Amino acid sequence: MGSECYQNRLDREHRARGSLGPLPCREGELLQSLAFIGRHIGEGNMAEAVAADLDADLNNLVMSEEVEPLYAAVKKFIAEDVEPNTPAYFDAAFEHGDRWSLSPRQEDILAGLKDKAKANGLWNFFLPDAETGEGLKNLDYAYIAAELGKNPIASECLNCSAPDTGNMEVLERYGTPEQKEKWLKPLLEGEIRSAYAMTEPNLASSDAKQIATQARLDGDEWVLNGEKFYISGAGDKRCKIMITMVQTNPAAPPHRQQSQILVPTDNPGVQIIEPMTVFGRDDAPHGHMHLKFNDARVPKENILLGEGRGFEISQGRLGPGRIHHCMRSVGQAERALDLMVRRGMSREAFGKPLVQLGKNLELVSRARIEIEAMRLMVLKAAKAMDVLGNREARIWVHMCKAMIPERTCQIIDQAIQMHGAAGVSQWTPLAGMYTGQRTLRIADGPDEVHHLVVGRAELRRYDENFGRS
Ligand SMILES: Cc1cc2nc3c(=O)[nH]c(=O)nc-3n(C[C@H](O)[C@H](O)[C@H](O)COP(=O)(O)OP(=O)(O)OC[C@H]3O[C@@H](n4cnc5c(N)ncnc54)[C@H](O)[C@@H]3O)c2cc1C
Repeated sequence: MGSECYQNRLDREHRARGSLGPLPCREGELLQSLAFIGRHIGEGNMAEAVAADLDADLNNLVMSEEVEPLYAAVKKFIAEDVEPNTPAYFDAAFEHGDRWSLSPRQEDILAGLKDKAKANGLWNFFLPDAETGEGLKNLDYAYIAAELGKNPIASECLNCSAPDTGNMEVLERYGTPEQKEKWLKPLLEGEIRSAYAMTEPNLASSDAKQIATQARLDGDEWVLNGEKFYISGAGDKRCKIMITMVQTNPAAPPHRQQSQILVPTDNPGVQIIEPMTVFGRDDAPHGHMHLKFNDARVPKENILLGEGRGFEISQGRLGPGRIHHCMRSVGQAERALDLMVRRGMSREAFGKPLVQLGKNLELVSRARIEIEAMRLMVLKAAKAMDVLGNREARIWVHMCKAMIPERTCQIIDQAIQMHGAAGVSQWTPLAGMYTGQRTLRIADGPDEVHHLVVGRAELRRYDENFGRS
């Protein structure tokens, strides 16, 4: 970039491309407005300097110095404590005869790992700028989450697992002091777990404006009626609270009809119907539950932020939740490539190592190139969240969610192929990783919806009213 300031670059692009700005999002709009205001009030230099600073800051993707030792400690903890305990943890599943709770041996293993992580300060990294003082910047957390993604229980050991991280961030940002005391505190301590209940079986839930579960105020209580499915984590007995998206006012404008309400899972009006399966597995004890609200009554104060503000919260919640998934996915892609290379180099056919047959070397090369591209995307999105805020940075998050699960899924698929039959077996983690990433292309919004948002933002650089009805 040299010494050329942001506005000069912008003007150069304008000249080259007609009247178009360089960035398909509010970041571009923000920088342009700063420069515009500056030019028109005679303070061009100041505005340019601010814009250039912001631009430089957004592109500075280096981990903070103070986080470097934490990052090293997380890697060490995963290698020396979590990895050696992972096989025993899964072997101990269901040995007590109940599929919907951890076995005593699993509880012991997890408690030991959590205590050690907490004692070493490896805890709640995901919560940026929290009042409680916990959490790292999104950028720093991105580096750590990619490491967590390589092991199936590492995130929980550090109290950084889905869907709790997104839910805790909602409670931290929008919860009342009472809500925080009752739900956020035990979640931050890792004592309970939570779920997010939005999707409904009888309507296309990727268009959240359609959500039809009703909540009506009756005196001092909300009364909920409706049906949800694929509510992840609601099967686990440790799950005590669900953030539930409901329709509170069908007569309001489309984006003001919905609200989010806290519903305890032991509410007598909550009926668990069955676990939904994912590629034939019920993911017990976590579970993706099909459930009904039958006149489920909760106190009026259980609403988050206020009536009609459900979409506002979604914009705040889904960003962090989605980017955390993408951060862990980068780690999964890295793990898949590692397994692919080790297998390809250690097994021979037709007189050569597998990795040298056909186009396998190119597959390895493509995987490495794309992992590095995905990592940069995720770091950039995380930095945008730190610098611009979740709302302004959301286009970057949509870009990541559109790209990363799809590409990670392909890399895992190629790693499976390199393993032959063993790739789909219980001998490697690849089959589970594949189904996880494949479902991530649907969960938290299907790929197409993210492409819709990114594509629409791109077209709005040409016609600012594109797609607005
Ligand atoms: C393993 C798993 C875990 C989940 N966990 C949760 C959870 O914890 N909480 C929760 O509330 N939900 C959860 N979900 C549900 C998930 O978020 C929804 O399935 C998702 O939002 C899509 O909604 P839908 O299934 O109703 O699909 P639909 O909305 O019916 O969409 C079906 C398909 O239509 C196409 N489509 C939709 N919109 C567009 C568009 N604009 N352009 C082009 N094509 C489009 C896409 O191909 C899409 O896949 C989970 C799902 C899975 C599989």
